[in-house]
Amino acid sequence: MATLTFLGATAGVTGSMYLLETAQSKILLECGLVQGSYEEEQENEKPFPFDPASIDAVVLSHGHLDHSGRLPRLVNDGYRGPIYMTSPTVELLEILLKDSAFLSMRDAEWENKRRRRAGKEEVEPLYTNEDVEQTLQLCKGLTYATPTEILDGVQLRYLDAGHILGSAIVELIIKEEGKARKLVFSGDLGNSCAAILRDPVQVEKADVLLMESTYGNRNHRPMEETLDEFKDIIREATESGGNILIPAFAVGRTQEIIFRLGEFYQQGILKHQAVYLDSPMAIATTEVYHRYQDVFDSEDKTALRQARSGSLHSYLPVLRYSRTTEESMAINRITDGAIIIAGSGMCTGGRIKHHLKHNLWRRNAHVIIVGYQAIGTPGRALVDGAKRLRVVGEDVAVNATIHTLGGFSAHAGQQQLLDWMGAFHKPKPHTYLIHGETDAKKALQHQLHAMDIKAEIPEMGKTITI
Ligand SMILES: [Zn+2]
Ligand SMILES: [Zn+2]
Repeated sequence: MATLTFLGATAGVTGSMYLLETAQSKILLECGLVQGSYEEEQENEKPFPFDPASIDAVVLSHGHLDHSGRLPRLVNDGYRGPIYMTSPTVELLEILLKDSAFLSMRDAEWENKRRRRAGKEEVEPLYTNEDVEQTLQLCKGLTYATPTEILDGVQLRYLDAGHILGSAIVELIIKEEGKARKLVFSGDLGNSCAAILRDPVQVEKADVLLMESTYGNRNHRPMEETLDEFKDIIREATESGGNILIPAFAVGRTQEIIFRLGEFYQQGILKHQAVYLDSPMAIATTEVYHRYQDVFDSEDKTALRQARSGSLHSYLPVLRYSRTTEESMAINRITDGAIIIAGSGMCTGGRIKHHLKHNLWRRNAHVIIVGYQAIGTPGRALVDGAKRLRVVGEDVAVNATIHTLGGFSAHAGQQQLLDWMGAFHKPKPHTYLIHGETDAKKALQHQLHAMDIKAEIPEMGKTITI
């Protein structure tokens, strides 16, 4: 009988990893990084609780690092088999893993400078570019909705999850001793109100379900309200003349913002002369999105076509890519009338810091926060109303208006999760809640019980039979 062991994302939302074992094979479902405090991230340095060389196949739901970021480590530790994912995910994974290797090598270098001075032993980066290159060689891109026999008696099918480009719900059918059992892993389910991507596909049958519960305890603000507020900020900024800065995450959120600005442009609301995308990583990601318009939501595809553009880029004709440092520095000289989208999303690094230095002190400037800001980050300080901010070595007065737009989530809210669960036919699948904080999982469990669906909250290391 097949078993599944929970090896990650049982407490919190990061470090997704599950080991599926059948009589003949071992399959690793997700291989995510633990993300959080320095102490929590030490978990990534530990050896895997299984022999990587003994795994026959890896199955990935989507490219986000908390689901994929430990793959180069797995390969470095001896894994040589196939890594399955959707085709767009292969391309996004290359961008994300290369950035992750860059950051891990940079952090190790900083740490080692300190250690050398202190006469301490040096540390190794979590992985290097070579590990990433080797990992990318093993990646195999599959098409949505097409079943693939990945191992003897194991069939994999990806269904649209609508979370980021290429994101998928994972269906695994395991045939043993003449009996077939179906395991469904929700992956990260998207927010059906978000632009660009299709809504998560509703699944009707499963024996066992691994269910994400990121927003198990709350609903998002209605998208219409968020968009009205966004439009008002654009109008206000047009009148006051200052620049608008949008710190944005490279994958997903940036493309959503570009799409929404495109809508405003097409509606005649956006009068700005230029929207700068000032992030090489976000530009590369946006280009992957262009290449995979066939997986876009049909309504949004039609909108793009009606604008006689057919692409995300020409839907917003004033969009300018800023790739080089020189191009980025040239934007610093613009004092008004520009919209600048730059990373990082929480203002902890990247080019946004320079734009903050040049704009925060201006009374007519606006900063729009469009994503989650962790405690302790400069982005959070702005949201919390800081009067001054330390950026690139300077103390800058915060005179700009700071706006927080809370509605742009890439995750399904509580009601959307419940609706998705509601689509399963009886008998309802045996459900395990993962990928959520304790409060979120408990709230979702409570709601599911009211729907007569039994849902368990597994502990780290727990093994269940499929
Ligand atoms: Zn995700
Ligand atoms: Zn996730």
